[in-house]
Amino acid sequence: MITDIVQAFQYFIRQMSEVENALDTDCIADAINDICRLSDVGSMKVDIYSSATLIDTDKKETHILYDDGESDDDVIKIKKITGGSGALVYTISHKKGSEPWNERLHNRLDLLVSILFVFTSRFVINQVAQKYAYYDEAEYHNLRYFGAELTKLAAENKTKGLAAAQFNLKHFQGVNHHVGRDNGDVVMRTFINGLDEIKGCSVPVCRMGGDNFIMLMSADKIDDVVEYLKGTIISFGDEFSERVNVSATAGIYVFEDDFELKILGDLMDKLMPASGLAKKAGRDDVIFYDSELMNIRQQIATIQHQFPIAMENSEFLVYYQPKVSITDGTIVGAEALCRWSQKDRLIPPGEFIPILEQSMDICKLDFYMIERVCRDIRRWIDEGRNVVRISANLSRKHMLDVDLVQHLLEIIDKYNIPHVLFEVELTETTTDVEFKDLKRVVQTLQKQGISTSVDDFGIGYSSLKLIKEIPWNVLKIDKSFVPVDEDDEHSPTSVMFKYVVGMAREMGLEIIAEGVETKTQVEVLRKNGCDIAQGFYYDRPLPAAEFEKRLETGAIKR
Ligand code: C2E
Ligand code: MG
Ligand code: MG
Repeated sequence: MITDIVQAFQYFIRQMSEVENALDTDCIADAINDICRLSDVGSMKVDIYSSATLIDTDKKETHILYDDGESDDDVIKIKKITGGSGALVYTISHKKGSEPWNERLHNRLDLLVSILFVFTSRFVINQVAQKYAYYDEAEYHNLRYFGAELTKLAAENKTKGLAAAQFNLKHFQGVNHHVGRDNGDVVMRTFINGLDEIKGCSVPVCRMGGDNFIMLMSADKIDDVVEYLKGTIISFGDEFSERVNVSATAGIYVFEDDFELKILGDLMDKLMPASGLAKKAGRDDVIFYDSELMNIRQQIATIQHQFPIAMENSEFLVYYQPKVSITDGTIVGAEALCRWSQKDRLIPPGEFIPILEQSMDICKLDFYMIERVCRDIRRWIDEGRNVVRISANLSRKHMLDVDLVQHLLEIIDKYNIPHVLFEVELTETTTDVEFKDLKRVVQTLQKQGISTSVDDFGIGYSSLKLIKEIPWNVLKIDKSFVPVDEDDEHSPTSVMFKYVVGMAREMGLEIIAEGVETKTQVEVLRKNGCDIAQGFYYDRPLPAAEFEKRLETGAIKR
């Protein structure tokens, strides 16, 4: 039993200093009780509000009650004190039948209340500060909260059996645009709530910013979470009548037994590379952090590091793959394809082009290739050979270069190459902005008498708009759209091939089928009126010297 007012205050202050985690309202009420008793004040009830505006609506954050009087005590004074970020309401009651309070007692009470306010408002400030520290503006838990929860779990050795994911909602700008920002907020919230329900872990999904989130899950729920992230229909609007599909790319790390986590950064080191890779087009939308991922990362770093040295050492070679007229087997053109010649092996472009496309390095390589192609054509002309039109691939990255055509012409004209002998292969674009650039580039090249072809038509984002609005010369049908021997004439591939070829012919486009490997495929081409083939059936991409020989002999049919 505390008998001294100073002691009572000390106890109260101690309680108030310990509110960082959770306020023990019983202890605080006890402390206030003691202070009131020792100050000769009757009974007091303290309500704490996180905001002054909440007082009237009675939405208290916390309620501290001190009342040792009868239930029908007279309320003699209600004191409201509002601070910058919170409010306190003291309701002081007078015990029925006791002596009325004199002015001295009232003053004493005011003083006491003011002192109590200073300390209890600490709690309010703390609560508000916590709110700002651990939530973002849309009231999602934030990364700081995630870090605090995670380090707590790690310190208690409780990360075993858990996994973490960092994910990014796909095309969410598009969703916002499509359904409106307010509905977009609802959709995002619903998607996250759904995830909270299935992840089997109490730490809520936290937002890192924008449409980037981070979460913990029970390791045995990974499959459910992955399925959910890969695409979930979210209903919203009046009576949930509207629906949108939300999906995400994600990096996942399953906590290993020997994983030591001291700070959040230790986990981010695992999640960032995985989620970064997942975001890149052409890869799986969900990537797990493991040794395979580290190998890929290592490969990427090596290629990026070696590229400038390889350029200096002229390690990149031009191979030529003939384009053959199926009617008479003559070579009517060729595509220049890049090979990286390292000491012990020849690296195919699939292994390095996608990496070079992550930076502007690909543009350096393309111009290098074009220079080599022009040099070869010049030599063939000078040697009096039978020269055909050569196409070179240009990455979409060039679309950012407003002087692209100018740069191309500089090289072509430096070697004095007749423009009809050069062709540029371009793939489809994904955005409207790129589409405009693509159209401008094709039109400008055409004015210069340089042919352009749509490469890999059929895969990616091909649209009819692409061939309707851009004046291409050549349509190259991707090998995945050329019927294989097993396809009968009613298979979807056969039907599509037939109509794409028919349409392109009607539009006056030259058509090339890519990846032709068998005689049966050649027959299919013939039947559908596609006259030019490029593929292993005739030739693989050949080193320049071999290609020169092939130019003399014509394509060899096996
Ligand atoms: P692409 O432009 O569509 O080139 C055709 C690819 O199909 C080549 O692969 C070729 O070897 C392959 N191919 C040809 N006939 C057949 C066949 O009958 N069966 C099969 N299975 N494949 C066949 P490659 O040489 O590995 O090149 C892959 C891709 O790399 C090219 O696809 C092109 O997109 C890119 N690429 C190659 N060189 C360059 C370059 O210098 N610059 C740029 N930006 N991209 C390049
Ligand atoms: Mg190509
Ligand atoms: Mg192609």
